[in-house]
Amino acid sequence: MSHWLMVETHADPLGTIRQILKTIWRNGQLECILTPTNGSAELKQAPYLLYSPDELEDFNPFKPLMTSNTARFVPALLHEQQKPSNIGAILRPCELRALKGLERNNGLRTNGLLTICFDCLGTYPNEDYIWRTKRKGSVEQLTQEALQFAKHGGIVPYRFRSACQVCESPASEGAKVNIGVIGLPIRQSILLMFPERQDINLLANSNLRIREADSKLIEQHQITVAKINERNQRVSERIRQGMADVLPLSIEQLVDSFIECGDCQKCMQVCPLCAIELPMRSDSGQYLIEGIVRWAESCAGCGMCEQVCPRHKPLSIFFAYIRDQLKQESIASDKSSKSTLL
Ligand code: SF4
Ligand code: SF4
Ligand code: SF4
Repeated sequence: MSHWLMVETHADPLGTIRQILKTIWRNGQLECILTPTNGSAELKQAPYLLYSPDELEDFNPFKPLMTSNTARFVPALLHEQQKPSNIGAILRPCELRALKGLERNNGLRTNGLLTICFDCLGTYPNEDYIWRTKRKGSVEQLTQEALQFAKHGGIVPYRFRSACQVCESPASEGAKVNIGVIGLPIRQSILLMFPERQDINLLANSNLRIREADSKLIEQHQITVAKINERNQRVSERIRQGMADVLPLSIEQLVDSFIECGDCQKCMQVCPLCAIELPMRSDSGQYLIEGIVRWAESCAGCGMCEQVCPRHKPLSIFFAYIRDQLKQESIASDKSSKSTLL
């Protein structure tokens, strides 16, 4: 059972989140925290490794820009530090999904890593982000604009990166600490969700005003998240219909579509799921089906691959489509084996 708390924000949700993170840093006795974003307006390559809680003053989880998937950097960080219990990782929902994929596919052990996930209000394509920051005057203004619409789940979704428009879920869940803003009156309060009750102690001895969350607030959050997920699912289906003539119809077709890529591998170099091991190839250079299936099945939908693909291949859409095909095939084969048994 999850444990929900409500934190009063006193009209400063961003400041409150920074204070929550500083408290977690202190109580969790962390040495460092990996963060996917900071407050700088620059289009710099993320993530950032912070070594002092003071550096969190510059942390801005709602800057609408994503230049890399933070999960891609976790295996190397765990390897270097060798003490996962002293490391924190702040992740977007698609980054947390990717980390879970690495655990499943590659046996990455993240025991002790303190994962913190926050509801994502969406990110713009890089050029759009630059243009909007200039128009608004600063990244703070752009962030405030995004936060104003948190209650409705974000702003102008059709302007977001295409991965965000079809995001499986921009809501935080499954981390040790989950910060909820979607659907909430964030100038008054935000939600914190802990899958494990003992992790509530990470907030001990702080000046934050915290109490058990109202069931109404939790419901409001969950209803808005469900609406966003349904909307994204509809957009995804529309996009698939529009791409009917280029969608790979089978896993074999998907594997074959990589033949034209030659030795490119740019999508794999940025994909968190390929951080430990690239999909295997035969002696002739062709990708093996098992590797591509595992990759496609765990795709977190972050869209980083598409941003670097010189052929502009919508890989996350291809993968989501193939994943659905594989699911349907496995349901059909389950049903037929049951009917044979009967
Ligand atoms: S894909 Fe989802 S979680 Fe990732 S940046 Fe976009 S909206 Fe956020
Ligand atoms: S395949 Fe692309 S969308 Fe999927 S996790 Fe990797 S980089 Fe993200
Ligand atoms: S980045 Fe594009 S062209 Fe390169 S291997 Fe990936 S899908 Fe192929």
